[in-house]
Amino acid sequence: MIDSRSLLGIENLGRDEIASILNRASQFSLEKPQPILSGRRIVLLFYEPSTRTRVSFEMAAKALGATTYLVHATASSIEKGESLLDTGLTLHAMGAEAIVIRHPSSGAPAFLARHLDILIVNAGDGMHEHPSQALLDAFTIREAKGRIEGLKIAVIGDIFHSRVARSDVHLLSRFGAEIVMSGPPELVPDVAVTLAPGLKLTRDVDEAIAGADVVMLLRVQKERLGGLPIFVERYVAEYQMTPARLARAKPDALVMHPGPMVRGMELTDAVADSSRSLVLRQVRNGVPVRMAILARALAN
Ligand code: ASP
Repeated sequence: MIDSRSLLGIENLGRDEIASILNRASQFSLEKPQPILSGRRIVLLFYEPSTRTRVSFEMAAKALGATTYLVHATASSIEKGESLLDTGLTLHAMGAEAIVIRHPSSGAPAFLARHLDILIVNAGDGMHEHPSQALLDAFTIREAKGRIEGLKIAVIGDIFHSRVARSDVHLLSRFGAEIVMSGPPELVPDVAVTLAPGLKLTRDVDEAIAGADVVMLLRVQKERLGGLPIFVERYVAEYQMTPARLARAKPDALVMHPGPMVRGMELTDAVADSSRSLVLRQVRNGVPVRMAILARALAN
């Protein structure tokens, strides 16, 4: 049986659980370390590149007093062909108490959680979920806007290949946001509206942005396109976020992006660096939110 303190995704996480993680996060900060996980052993097992997620999980674990061990696929026996399960069993046998895992296959964290008696935190699995990103996005929206309920949130870009979009849509729609998705059919197929109840989809990005409180941009995930051609010029012309497009949103609308941003593709420098951009606040909030996730998993 999977330990309910593991964090595998947002889809199956209750509203109260989500609210309790967000509330707990507001009590944490990097500046005020709380050694409640002193002596605990957390392995960061990364099969894919990461900057923000890996470093902030590591900072979060250390701010709680835990010791972290980084295992990167390209610098470990994984390169020699060791299976995911054998790697997990090895880390467990060594004394790891929790594994924070990023993996290119959807379901890899759930697979480990089913087969190992160890706490698992999903740090992004394939095109499936990225729950800690959705939690920090929700935390950031709440902090900036005071609420999630009733906000119009435009989600624009490569939704199909984005685990961030999937987790965000599950979370934000459950908390009463009005979500309008937009992007070309290859990146936002019609079926995307079935992800959660009440979602809307328009191919007209200006319509998606009109009156939005939050504009959430996503990177075109080139590594997951599998040969699908993306016509950059067309994408830029039709979907790139520019100051002129953003002017259609509410005057106090904010822009979010999970990173890494590809400037000149999904957004211009002027949007990325504007005072409306929450991007660095999202990054900063990643630490207390991940402290709350680790505390929920391991604190007694
Ligand atoms: N950093 C996020 C992820 O790992 C978003 C992205 O890569 O575009 O899914």
